[in-house]
Amino acid sequence: GHDAGDNLLTSITLRIQQSLRRTDTIARLGGDEFAIILENIHLPEDVVSVTKSLLENLGKPVQIHQRDVYVGASIGISVFPDDGEDFGNLLKHADIAMYRAKETGRNTFQFYAAEMSAAAIRRMELENSLRNAIEMEQLVVYYQPKYDLKSREVLGMEALVRWDHPEKGIIPPDEFIPLAEETGLIVKLGEWVIKKSCQQLKHWQQAGYAINNLSINVSPRQFHEQDLAGLFEKVMSETGLDAQHIEIELTESTLVQNQVNAREVLRQLHAMGLRIAMDDFGTGYASLSYLKDFPIHTVKVDKSFIWGIPTDKQNMAIVRAIIGLTSEMSLSVIAEGVETEEQIEFLKDVGCHQGQGYYWSKPVSALEFERDILKKS
Ligand code: C2E
Ligand code: CA
Ligand code: CA
Repeated sequence: GHDAGDNLLTSITLRIQQSLRRTDTIARLGGDEFAIILENIHLPEDVVSVTKSLLENLGKPVQIHQRDVYVGASIGISVFPDDGEDFGNLLKHADIAMYRAKETGRNTFQFYAAEMSAAAIRRMELENSLRNAIEMEQLVVYYQPKYDLKSREVLGMEALVRWDHPEKGIIPPDEFIPLAEETGLIVKLGEWVIKKSCQQLKHWQQAGYAINNLSINVSPRQFHEQDLAGLFEKVMSETGLDAQHIEIELTESTLVQNQVNAREVLRQLHAMGLRIAMDDFGTGYASLSYLKDFPIHTVKVDKSFIWGIPTDKQNMAIVRAIIGLTSEMSLSVIAEGVETEEQIEFLKDVGCHQGQGYYWSKPVSALEFERDILKKS
């Protein structure tokens, strides 16, 4: 919660202060990032003893609501004037060194060294330009249709974000979602996807298209660090959409991370009438009991299992078992990554009635989706 977070920040700040001289400067740059300026040091090595004492102090538990909480720090160091002659360069290089420290394991420090920076700089540039991308409206939502295997009719669509980069062209989500997740940018990005795709669905419904099912991917940080139910509440009332037309796709790792919170958020979403799908089912670490312990409506069989059909007997056995399980539990099931007629035949045979994949269509822009896939009712 916010209170606990604020308390933690205050305690941490006090500890940093205790490790420094009165003449040193400490600033919080935002989120969980701090900057420290040590003036009048004689040798770069002098910084090491301060850094070590900082890490030691920060490593001790913090009491929050009668509980011991542990935090770690990664520290990047740049030294004037070798690593930069102005504040901007010093900070930038300290930042690069910090990323390197993070990579080598938590609770460590790294000095900036020019040769280490090529990869780090690329990463930082990507982070900065992603930050801009949201502001500059370079993100676009693509849609991939979901089909009824028997009637071959469109049942709905999944929103899949793309980054339309001014120089690099369309960048797929695998290249920026992990970074967005790591940096926390995912919260803003995800909020934008939710709003945009809900507006699109409403728009198509008003235009008379028979479409009433939208799936939206929600990542772990979005799910755990944001008032997701509050956000959907707002978007539903702004768009006038029916919450039952929206399905949230979560991966197993999201539920495993913080089960207490997961339970509460799912309860809220479920109470609003939103549907919950388990994405990439069978590839994560969740136990099967999650299917009965959490309010889950849909299981999405991971594409890696579908691709083995019709030659990989083991994958086929897994698909058959998942579908059997879901139908016994009255859950709805959909296969993703369907690419061939044989796969459709197998899925129908074993009792799966919904599919999504390149067999029908890749994810396409809203324009193409409307032109090529939607039909007026
Ligand atoms: P996902 O949720 O598992 O999405 C399915 C991915 O499989 C999509 O890749 C889709 O284009 C691809 N796919 C679907 N059918 C087929 C097929 O028949 N063959 C093949 N080869 N691929 C198929 P995409 O769009 O590149 O998205 C990758 C991942 O990025 C998604 O995996 C999802 O985890 C994440 N992602 C995309 N959009 C968002 C978003 O708005 N928010 C969040 N949090 N994550 C997103
Ligand atoms: Ca998905
Ligand atoms: Ca998936």
